[in-house]
Amino acid sequence: MTIDLDTQRTATAADTFRGLLDGRVHVPGDPGYDAARVAWNFAVDQRPAAVAVPRTAAEVATVVRLAAECGLRVAPQSTGHNAGPLAAQGLADVVIVRTSEMSSAIADPVRGIVRVEGGTIWEPAVDAAAAHGRAVLHGSSPDVGIAGYSLGGGIGWYARRLGLATNSLTAVEIVIADGTLVRADAENNRELFWAVRGGGGNFGVVTALEFKMFDIQTAYAGMLMWNLKDIEPVLRDWAAWAPGAPDEVTTSFRAMRLPEMPDLPEFLRGQELVVIDGAVLGSDERGEELLAGLRALHPFMDTFARVPAKSLVRLHMDPEGGAPFASDSVMLGSFPDAAVDAFIGAVGPDATTSLLMAELRQLGGALGRPHEGGGVLNRLDAQFLSFGGGIAATPEMGAQAHADAVRLSEALAPFDNGRQYANFAENPVDARSIYGADVWTQLTGIRSAVDPHGLFAANHRVPRLHEDGATTA
Ligand SMILES: Cc1cc2nc3c(=O)[nH]c(=O)nc-3n(C[C@H](O)[C@H](O)[C@H](O)COP(=O)(O)OP(=O)(O)OC[C@H]3O[C@@H](n4cnc5c(N)ncnc54)[C@H](O)[C@@H]3O)c2cc1C
Repeated sequence: MTIDLDTQRTATAADTFRGLLDGRVHVPGDPGYDAARVAWNFAVDQRPAAVAVPRTAAEVATVVRLAAECGLRVAPQSTGHNAGPLAAQGLADVVIVRTSEMSSAIADPVRGIVRVEGGTIWEPAVDAAAAHGRAVLHGSSPDVGIAGYSLGGGIGWYARRLGLATNSLTAVEIVIADGTLVRADAENNRELFWAVRGGGGNFGVVTALEFKMFDIQTAYAGMLMWNLKDIEPVLRDWAAWAPGAPDEVTTSFRAMRLPEMPDLPEFLRGQELVVIDGAVLGSDERGEELLAGLRALHPFMDTFARVPAKSLVRLHMDPEGGAPFASDSVMLGSFPDAAVDAFIGAVGPDATTSLLMAELRQLGGALGRPHEGGGVLNRLDAQFLSFGGGIAATPEMGAQAHADAVRLSEALAPFDNGRQYANFAENPVDARSIYGADVWTQLTGIRSAVDPHGLFAANHRVPRLHEDGATTA
């Protein structure tokens, strides 16, 4: 007789976990399972052995210990914004630890930090810092989880001046494989602190994070809009200007095909647009000086003005509350005229594409320089980051959007620097491409030391290093 190990493990998990945490662990067949397994990206169909929704670090530790006893793995997940590469690994032997009910943000102006629980999204942390006239290194969306974003890198509107958000972390508290809660910072568990800052959820479930606040109350920020048919001069100008622009400015360029969605302001519905948005950390005069070249190209809309820093969390108008999405991304070492032509060929006004947006994020500045005392991902070695994404309301739409996003990446292949940015990589990638070759041995060695039996399942898997130099998940 053969025994199906996965079926046996799942049955044991169901018996062990049912009723645990006052009913906040959901196993297949339970009424709450289908709702609990939904990721922010609705297009990702996650079917884990269980979904646990702890409220405290002690509850996280209980789940981690029990999962290990049952021979299951543990996947930390805050929101499921980047659930795709995790689900692609197969989750039949995985307990998802959804940290969304561990949500609070407290600013400590004396220490100059914000402390959040492991499932907190950005908006409450932005508000907590703003109450003290400060800002934090959030990204373009108010409901992205701070944990996943910060452990994967973190590119926001202050990035070319202040670098990756991961390097603004001052401490994390994390339940590791033996179920203990440890603090990792500049004094304690320093190797672990180095590894999690860029190494993602490979080392345990983060139950709290602390990160720096910056003395920013306002910014000169907004967006410029053109019709998509005007893309060529605008992209050529922006692409030539962006790499050498001073650190105080960070922008994004998007070619957008907006659907007829009632949630959108009427004047945007069904429109095909070019949007450049961003922020300048400087005076109005400096902002005007930096944007003069782009303004000379006559955008039909220009909202750049002095705004409260906290409003930047919605500047990009990202969807909130979940969306079905398929995408692809690529990091670009350069973006010469030939890249402008390739981008326009793939998503310009004459292209046939299902992509809702094709985005280029302006990198460089502080993002490109090593951050002293930073983590394993202490800089991004690229000039631009390209991301193509489309709506995946049905599997067919998802397949089409993914194919079109890959087509955009392929068009830009001559400028691809071979690296990946974990946060924008929403499909499986070789994790080695996220890090420099110089840190790979150290990173995989720390994974082996902290998680010797490979308990944790992250979206981008850093394998364990064995004595003979081989690696396994
Ligand atoms: C609309 C949208 C806007 C975005 N904007 C930006 C942006 O401006 N800049 C940017 O850099 N990125 C951006 N991203 C990418 C985003 O940073 C990644 O999707 C990130 O992984 C989201 O983190 P999460 O915790 O919300 O997602 P999840 O899918 O919950 O987590 C992703 C991974 O992070 C790890 N993780 C999450 N929580 C924990 C935890 N508590 N403990 C340990 N590990 C954990 C796990 O490995 C997990 O698989 C955006 C994504 C979307 C969809």
